[in-house]
Amino acid sequence: MRCPECHALMEEGLLPVSEGLLWSKGRVVGGGGGMAEDVPGTHAVMRPNRMAGWRCRKCHLILFRYGESWDTDKKAQMLAAAENQAEEAVEEES
Ligand SMILES: [Zn+2]
Repeated sequence: MRCPECHALMEEGLLPVSEGLLWSKGRVVGGGGGMAEDVPGTHAVMRPNRMAGWRCRKCHLILFRYGESWDTDKKAQMLAAAENQAEEAVEEES
């Protein structure tokens, strides 16, 4: 992934989000009566609390995608791998 500001190559990594993330629209803290909302997919209940992200060390920008569970994807891959192994085991028996 390229940085949208300086177009340098971004570094892939994980962002720990222990309490989940809140989003408050606008730039004034506590102003405008705007309520902070939960960012979907960042809450850490029942799953590892980290999100896939990209970091630009040149202009100090971090991007991450929310609403998509890195853990769920990994779990699906593990399940698929386990199924493949089970199928291979059955083939070896016959
Ligand atoms: Zn950059």
